[in-house]
Amino acid sequence: MQVKLPYILIILIAVCILIGVIFKSENLPYKEDCRDRMNHIALGLEKFHKEYKYYTDNLDSLRNYVLISVPLNCPVNIVKFIFKVSNDSYEIICPNDHGKIKNGIASW
Ligand SMILES: [Zn+2]
Repeated sequence: MQVKLPYILIILIAVCILIGVIFKSENLPYKEDCRDRMNHIALGLEKFHKEYKYYTDNLDSLRNYVLISVPLNCPVNIVKFIFKVSNDSYEIICPNDHGKIKNGIASW
């Protein structure tokens, strides 16, 4: 018995959709965790600024102002967040496209 081509195509499309759904659902907790980390880091930057009157991208200096349980990288991998700072503004960017926080305002 020969399986017809349309059935094979339908099965292939269904498998692709299923893989997409699984991948998306696995990536979702990373996104939420990532954004939570960036929120904590933004608070840490604000605390640092309150004390020193400038923002820092020195992660060792910042470490004392962010809860030790909050890693300074996106949960997808070990790549650190991108920090763009000047004396009176800051930007924290996820290298994995989960968003950014600029001067306390989140992109999501
Ligand atoms: Zn991220």
